[in-house]
Amino acid sequence: MERFKDPAVDTSGEHTALKKARPSWDEYFMRIAHEVATRSTCPRLAVGAVVVRDKRILTTGYNGSPSGMPHCEDVGCLIRIVDGRESCQRTLHAEQNAIIQAAYHGVSVRDSVLYCTHQPCLLCTKMIMNAGIEEVRYVVGYPDPLAMQLADDGGLNVVQLCHQASRIEP
Ligand SMILES: [Zn+2]
Ligand SMILES: [Zn+2]
Repeated sequence: MERFKDPAVDTSGEHTALKKARPSWDEYFMRIAHEVATRSTCPRLAVGAVVVRDKRILTTGYNGSPSGMPHCEDVGCLIRIVDGRESCQRTLHAEQNAIIQAAYHGVSVRDSVLYCTHQPCLLCTKMIMNAGIEEVRYVVGYPDPLAMQLADDGGLNVVQLCHQASRIEP
């Protein structure tokens, strides 16, 4: 475009606005995790996960039933009490599906970062650790002190990104 011909003198507001709109890597991957979560099939909670290494996406996952099995939104959730809390047992969690998808395609997730809309539960934390993922970044907390303790003991970094930093609406 004509007005960008000489970048040294380009002071157009349009260009500045575009640059401001460019997200950080954390914002970028967390926005994608939220987009992935829209594919969730459990009405209780929509969770999305994105596994990244060297600023490149390796795999994604959302919470949903195993392939070919009925969805919560069609047949209802399968509720059980786990650790004193109601929990839907019909679905695989987003983090689990992301790791499984990597295995399905023969992709190593070792030394990667997992972006997740929600803090991983105890089982997901164990899987994340054994998959060799080195850090988790999440937005929404999940009250599971045992999962936090396990991550701490196992040297897995679990970092909460604030809503504002990730530009995610609460
Ligand atoms: Zn469900
Ligand atoms: Zn989980």
